[in-house]
Amino acid sequence: MRESVGATKKFPKWKFFVCAFGSDISCNKKLSGMCNHVGQHILLALHQKIDHKAQIAVEADPCGLCGLEGCYIQLSESKITSDCDYHYSRMNHKSAKKTSQSSPCANVPIHCPLCHQSTSGNLRTIWKYNTVYHIISEHTGNNEALSELPVQFTIDTFIRRQEEEWMGITADKTHEYR
Ligand SMILES: [Zn+2]
Ligand SMILES: [Zn+2]
Ligand SMILES: [Zn+2]
Repeated sequence: MRESVGATKKFPKWKFFVCAFGSDISCNKKLSGMCNHVGQHILLALHQKIDHKAQIAVEADPCGLCGLEGCYIQLSESKITSDCDYHYSRMNHKSAKKTSQSSPCANVPIHCPLCHQSTSGNLRTIWKYNTVYHIISEHTGNNEALSELPVQFTIDTFIRRQEEEWMGITADKTHEYR
């Protein structure tokens, strides 16, 4: 069970949050490191690799912040809105997109160009690591749409090999998988 914090509540910077998958204390992270940490569980599941730290399986369409299904996420301009308990208002789309060895996860919210615009004018937001799932579950009946995938979208959803290595996915495995 995760604890409810809410994005607007103040909490001490040192506070550690419970990872939904974790079996031991090493899985608990500060809020700003949770997206990165949970992304590791998601990426391992994507590659069907054994996740020694996970007690429960990753669902098909996990939230990038807490790793569980069912959280609302919306990206508009570069502002991220979410009802996830692990969403933090300081989460900045631009800095989240940049990857480095210390923070390799680039599981960021992106817009799906194939989904119809909602009445608010916003495109449907999906998590980058859930792109394959989203395309398969929502757009495979439409081959035309698939062939029209914009180049930028393909680039946005491409998970860099370096990023995967940093996340503990070996190069060989990645190669094999592609
Ligand atoms: Zn964990
Ligand atoms: Zn969530
Ligand atoms: Zn879509």
